[in-house]
This record gives sequence, structure tokens and C-alpha cells, in this order.
Amino acid sequence: MASRVEVVLASGNAHKHRELNALLEPLGFPLVFGPERLALEVEESGKTYAENALIKARAWSRALGMPAVADDSGLEVEELGWGPGLISSRVAPTDEERIRWLLERMQGKTRRVARFVACLAMVLPTATGSEVVMAEGICRGRIALEAAGRFGFGYDPVFIPCGERKTFAELGESVKSRVSHRAVASRGLRDLLESPSMVESLSVRFCETD
Ligand code: IMP
Repeated sequence: MASRVEVVLASGNAHKHRELNALLEPLGFPLVFGPERLALEVEESGKTYAENALIKARAWSRALGMPAVADDSGLEVEELGWGPGLISSRVAPTDEERIRWLLERMQGKTRRVARFVACLAMVLPTATGSEVVMAEGICRGRIALEAAGRFGFGYDPVFIPCGERKTFAELGESVKSRVSHRAVASRGLRDLLESPSMVESLSVRFCETD
């Protein structure tokens, strides 16, 4: 999808921007960090990751009159009834406190099964409304006994992906960009956007020639 058309990331999370900028780079459009264009607060009132991602992408696309991508994601822990899930960013005010919140609840628990889930929504304005493309990704793993590592954000210091012995925050970009929930969802989104029918329908808007 060679293009000069920009897509805005419907998020104020600089870490998500950094990750998605690299993951969606093969699509060939610049991914603009939302707050560089607009101060916009969107209430995440959906009951699913998909609903919230769509609410955010629609709001930013409408506000700026340009294509938008949004990510809604969360950490799900079996022993916590698969929570905190949708409210992963709201259980405490900072990443450090959220990690403490989690480790306190996991104290003494031997079963530490967990997964990250991400849903990506892309909204493309059209003459008659908009087109929507969505993809979901899951990364399975477990909760570490204590926080370790400095890479990434959020719960990365306490999440050990399947097949590894270290946390995402210790393993760094090379592993996270391959196996994370956001990496899986990004591959899904890329596959959909690059499918022949989609390329045909989007080419008018994306493949502008000089
Ligand atoms: P959202 O901005 O409502 O989608 O919040 C997602 C929250 O889930 C983040 O603030 C983090 O707490 C957590 N989260 C999502 N993805 C990741 C990740 O890749 N690493 C660590 N934490 C994540």
C-alpha cells in the first residue's frame, strides 16, 4: 500500500505509538502520534476491546478527517477471573502501582497463567461514511513472581511469554515485536489491508500518485 496518506494513532500512549509505528511500517503510511495533532479525550465506554478500539478510532478519524488506528488492550490473569482485562490501565494511577496491585493479588498463588489481548481498529473515511478493518491478537504467558527488566511499559516487567523464562521487559524489542498481542494483531490487520479485495477498494484513497 505505497502511499503519502497519513494515518493517526488514536492514543496518547507513546509506547503504543513506538510499537505500532514499527509493526505497521510495512504498510507504508506514516503513523502520526495523536497528541501531536489534537488534544482529544475519548471515553472508553465499550464492553469489549473491539468496541473500545472502534470508539477511539472513530472519534479520532472524525475529529481530524483522516484515517485512524486505535489499540485497545489489556492483561488477563486466570486466578483473577481473567481480570483486570478492560480496566488494566485503571486499577491504579501509575505503571509501578499497577504492578504492585497485581503482585499483591498474586501473592502465594502457584497458578500464574495469563495472557495479553489487543484489538486494533482502523477507520478509513469514505465519501459516504467510513470503512472499518479490525484484528485481534493474543499473547499467552504467565505472571512473574517479581518485577524484572526495563524495556516496554505497563505490565511488561511481570509478564513472561510462553516458551521464555524472562519477562517482556527483560527480553526487549526483538521478542516483543515478534510474539506480543500487538504484533499478532498488527499482522492480522496487515493481512486484511493487503488482501486483494481490500487493496482494490482502498487503492483510490491510499495509492495516490505524484
Ligand atoms: P488501554 O489504553 O485502555 O488500551 O490500556 C491498556 C493497558 O493494558 C495498558 O495501560 C497496560 O496497563 C496494559 N497493556 C496493554 N498492552 C500492554 C503491553 O504490551 N505491555 C504491558 N502492558 C500492556
